[in-house]
Amino acid sequence: MKIGIIGQGQAGLLLAIMLKKNIKDVDVTIIDKNQVTGRKLLATGNGRCNLANLKIKENSYNSKEVLKIVKDFDAKKQIEFYKSIGVMTRSINDLVYPFSLKAKDYVDYLFRYLKECKIKFINNETVKDYEINKDKVKLTTNKKVFVFDYLVFATGNESAPQLGGDASILSILKKHGYEIKDNKPGLCPIRTIEQTKNIENERWKAKVSLNIDKDKVYEEDGEVIFKKDGISGIAIFNCASLIARSKKFKKATITLDLMPEVSLSELESIFSDMNFVSKESFLYGVFTKPMAAYIQHISNVKNPFRYTQTEIKKLAKTVKELTFTYKDSYDFKECQVAIGGLELSNLNSDLFSKTEKYVGFAGELLNADGLCGGYNLMFAAASANKIAKYLIKK
Ligand SMILES: Cc1cc2nc3c(=O)[nH]c(=O)nc-3n(C[C@H](O)[C@H](O)[C@H](O)COP(=O)(O)OP(=O)(O)OC[C@H]3O[C@@H](n4cnc5c(N)ncnc54)[C@H](O)[C@@H]3O)c2cc1C
Repeated sequence: MKIGIIGQGQAGLLLAIMLKKNIKDVDVTIIDKNQVTGRKLLATGNGRCNLANLKIKENSYNSKEVLKIVKDFDAKKQIEFYKSIGVMTRSINDLVYPFSLKAKDYVDYLFRYLKECKIKFINNETVKDYEINKDKVKLTTNKKVFVFDYLVFATGNESAPQLGGDASILSILKKHGYEIKDNKPGLCPIRTIEQTKNIENERWKAKVSLNIDKDKVYEEDGEVIFKKDGISGIAIFNCASLIARSKKFKKATITLDLMPEVSLSELESIFSDMNFVSKESFLYGVFTKPMAAYIQHISNVKNPFRYTQTEIKKLAKTVKELTFTYKDSYDFKECQVAIGGLELSNLNSDLFSKTEKYVGFAGELLNADGLCGGYNLMFAAASANKIAKYLIKK
């Protein structure tokens, strides 16, 4: 059996290993337009490669169908699989990493493993189109034509184009009649209507709440990083994805509780007690100078030495409910996942096409996105597993 895989990322590399491990005499060719294998993988998890997450929640993924694919090959099964190919993992607070905590070690190992299995690596070749010819798939790259029994697209999506992110395959698939959901950037910083220039580069641990129209849809504790025109940080990345997943809404707001340790009334009383302690605003003893000045500005309070009780209440409310209105998201260059892609309704439960039965799909090119915390690499592995299981039965 001759199988062509397009994409040397997490989905393509793991699929190649799964096939080689389980199908005798299988002939696998793995093609990529990049010169470097696993270029995006190398950048994941800040170079540590967060492979999976031991906990899955309903909103970890964008749909029930995607959640099901991952549950069928969950973190525990993935850890076992990694062990079976010689990759040891370690878990830190539910996040699963390669044992060395280095993406490079992981990618190098997969590459060497596949070379030893005699997989054919073809690099610097871009897929231009394909056609089904009798029972074969004819693939055309910018350099030559290949013929396979099965072809699998594991070409990722538009996120991080500087690392090879590319949605050109989706345009080709559209021409083949597939339904594609338009891409939006996910897991990225957001721009806000409110000014943040004066607190650029400040970082603050906060409880982050996302409201879409009147509904509170998400809450997470995390570090918020202020940008010149908006906010960033893992909790904000997750909010950006949840906003991008939302179909129609009028307004999305992100509220930061800068002191989740105390209630609003406790904070009012703490601030009242501190109101006379110093000639400086007491806020300077609690926050960094830029943050304190920002809180005073937002609260619209005048005299920093002796606040009125109304001003104390305003300050406490700002600290507990510092609210930013979503303007737009940073672009694909700054994002970790694309929200959109090939609709799963085009595919059967083995992730093969309903119309072109020798063509399968895995990884981020599908309309499948996960929140931060290993969920996207975990989906890439789980979708590769579905494809492999189908081909192993052939
Ligand atoms: C900075 C950053 C950090 C991240 N960290 C994490 C993390 O720690 N944990 C996590 O779960 N997720 C993380 N993600 C998301 C995760 O990396 C991706 O979702 C995942 O790598 C997608 O894997 P894939 O195999 O589907 O696609 P990719 O890894 O993107 O691989 C697709 C490959 O296909 C090739 N290709 C595309 N089009 C063509 C074509 N026409 N012809 C030939 N080749 C083509 C591309 O060059 C690419 O090499 C991160 C993303 C970024 C950008």
